[in-house]
Amino acid sequence: MGLKLFNTLSRSVQEFAPLDPDEKKVGMYCCGPTVYDFAHIGNWRTFVFADLVRRYLEFKGHTVTHVMNITDIEDKIIKRVRETKMTLREFTGKYETAFLEDLKTLNCREPHQKPRATEHIPEITSLIEKLIQRGVAYKAADGSVYFSIEKYRGCGCNYGQLLKLNFDEMRAGERVKSDEYAKESIADFALWKARVPEDGDIFWPSPFGEGRPGWHIECSAMSMKILGASFDLHLGGEDLIFPHHEDEIAQSEGATGKPFVKYWLHGAHLLVEGKKMSKSLGNFFTLRDLLAKGFTGREIRYLLLTAHYRETFNFTMEGLQGARAALARIDECIGKLRELAGNTTALPEQEDFLIPRFSAALEDDLNVSSGWAAVFDWVRSNNLFYHVLQDEEIRGANLNTKNWAIRAAAKLAAWEKVDTVLGIGTKSEAEIPTEAISLLEARQAARKAKDFKKSDAIRDELKANGWLIEDTPKGSKLKKI
Ligand SMILES: [Zn+2]
Repeated sequence: MGLKLFNTLSRSVQEFAPLDPDEKKVGMYCCGPTVYDFAHIGNWRTFVFADLVRRYLEFKGHTVTHVMNITDIEDKIIKRVRETKMTLREFTGKYETAFLEDLKTLNCREPHQKPRATEHIPEITSLIEKLIQRGVAYKAADGSVYFSIEKYRGCGCNYGQLLKLNFDEMRAGERVKSDEYAKESIADFALWKARVPEDGDIFWPSPFGEGRPGWHIECSAMSMKILGASFDLHLGGEDLIFPHHEDEIAQSEGATGKPFVKYWLHGAHLLVEGKKMSKSLGNFFTLRDLLAKGFTGREIRYLLLTAHYRETFNFTMEGLQGARAALARIDECIGKLRELAGNTTALPEQEDFLIPRFSAALEDDLNVSSGWAAVFDWVRSNNLFYHVLQDEEIRGANLNTKNWAIRAAAKLAAWEKVDTVLGIGTKSEAEIPTEAISLLEARQAARKAKDFKKSDAIRDELKANGWLIEDTPKGSKLKKI
């Protein structure tokens, strides 16, 4: 069975076949952050989705080149830089660092390349020159260079590949300079913005005069520089379909005459507590806001990964509590398997259903919710497996413990393989504080010496510190209350 993905370009689910003749290498570009503020949870849904795509392709054995640009020059950035009186680099550097820290908190694999727009001005200007040479871009009276939709369509190119656009409503000669605009104004958009007094000292020289690049051209120039004129995957949030991605296609195909991207994948919106996020509604959260509320990156990642990427997802505080409980169930199961497996190692192939069921779910347009269903069925069956074993031990049955250990080890190996995609990991023993571990050891010693008074006192002390002792057939262990 092969991977199927919903391609916005064809508006259908298609078999994924990379451009590489060996079908091994995959080029993947995801529009990165505009570094003018901390990224919010809606942004993070897109980046965690991109991480899932990358991890699943790697799980399947592809060699992925993951590129994510850093938009460090754009309308909003200029506005903020002026307000803060910092230099452009100081200002964007601060938010870029924060972004990369947040990416780590959410356990996203770091993109292989993170090009900054300001470090690709020559590539951007030469792409604009090519568009001028091909007659699809022009310098307007305001000194800025615009992309001509009319000329582009006139040479047989298709503007509106991702979104059906109504050209009858388009007014000839209209143009737009700002980076973001509504689809009602299909218009010539800015490739190079001539320097204006409000830009302060933020400008670069170019063959078209001093100025700065438009947002859309940044992505075309950087993606094609690293991944070539045609590449496999381009990802982003659905709010980027128009105009950003539509403009990226026009600029790239207008310059090279080659198909730009084979598969366009778009993540759906995120609502918070049932509503569109907004600062005035009080449901606007950055990742840092949620960490301050006591949630972990792992819990947030889990919650963001529970829904299919093409479904609008309602992110709630209740959902985060649920994430905590779900993760605790997984941790408990893994803890039991570790205890049974001991030092035994086994191959995931010896495990029965986790990997095949999980893969089948993900092959189906990354149906991660069905993937989680496989994980929790597996957790249930493992708990049953563990309880049967416990009952047998209590009955004093003569167990082939080695056989149980191999089975548990195979299950653990299968989980580790699946978790290379999910990236949630497991709570490690190391998270139990050393003081609690030494108290547990002291209690074991007291029990051995039949000093039950002391053993009970230690149990109470641990409980007061938030740890419950569980006595299992394989010894005692600590559980967080
Ligand atoms: Zn982009």
